[in-house]
Amino acid sequence: MPKSKKNTLQIGDVHITGLTDGSVTFDPRILFAHDPIEVWEPFYDRFPEYFEGQFFRNNLGSFVFTSGDRRILADTGFGPHGDMLGYPAPGELIADLEKNGIGPDTIDTVFLTHLHGDHVGWNMREDLPDRSLSFPNARYRVHEADWNHFTTDELLNDPKRGEATRRSVMPLHEKGVLDLMDGETELAPGVTAYPTPGHTPGHMSLLIASNNERALLVGDILGSPMQATETDLFYSPDWNPRMGIEARTSILDRAEREKAVVIGSHLSYPGWGVIVKWEGRRYWKAL
Ligand SMILES: [Zn+2]
Repeated sequence: MPKSKKNTLQIGDVHITGLTDGSVTFDPRILFAHDPIEVWEPFYDRFPEYFEGQFFRNNLGSFVFTSGDRRILADTGFGPHGDMLGYPAPGELIADLEKNGIGPDTIDTVFLTHLHGDHVGWNMREDLPDRSLSFPNARYRVHEADWNHFTTDELLNDPKRGEATRRSVMPLHEKGVLDLMDGETELAPGVTAYPTPGHTPGHMSLLIASNNERALLVGDILGSPMQATETDLFYSPDWNPRMGIEARTSILDRAEREKAVVIGSHLSYPGWGVIVKWEGRRYWKAL
């Protein structure tokens, strides 16, 4: 079993740090519009940190992968966008990096699982007057299918839905630091991005494989730990809910088969666990 300590995890030669931009609450009746709220009752005791009354409390997780002299940050939180979307925006990521002794200038790659507002928030220092790049020495990487999907005129001109892209993604392109991917891409030794479409057209996951140990960063394929068990429910934020279910099923099968640690953007802090079987059902269990 890989070594996990507080908010760090070692997978072979790859060192992982779990960071957070804070947490936000969501109404499960909006996220799972087809299902009654009672579906979640059996999970209240299992994942108490995940519930605030009947509401979900979502961690906004980011992760740093250090492999040799390379350092990758996966996702940059809600940043200021929560406020714009009507949620309180804790915006703690920059402070959390500092707390963990990780200088923003030591990040060489910012990998974006997808382009939703809660994953791109701190691409730029929105809190500084010059709105400079938060990670001045990094190339920013995302799948081209997400770039194409989120940068149509229709979306960019939509005052609400286009805001996060206009503020936090377009400047990367303008500054020439955005590299698009069109398929499986090795980002660093032992760290490989690969397409897992469904939540968005270009959603990508990371496979971390080193010295016979494995982990999968699944982004928003699991929007909550409960979805490891309730795999087949339509998840409303999914761009294509059927493909979302396929992606979820196939990555959970893979995690089980390969005994991989599962790391998720909104799983309970620090964001990783394993898949266990209990009375014939599958559960995510924090490490
Ligand atoms: Zn998300």
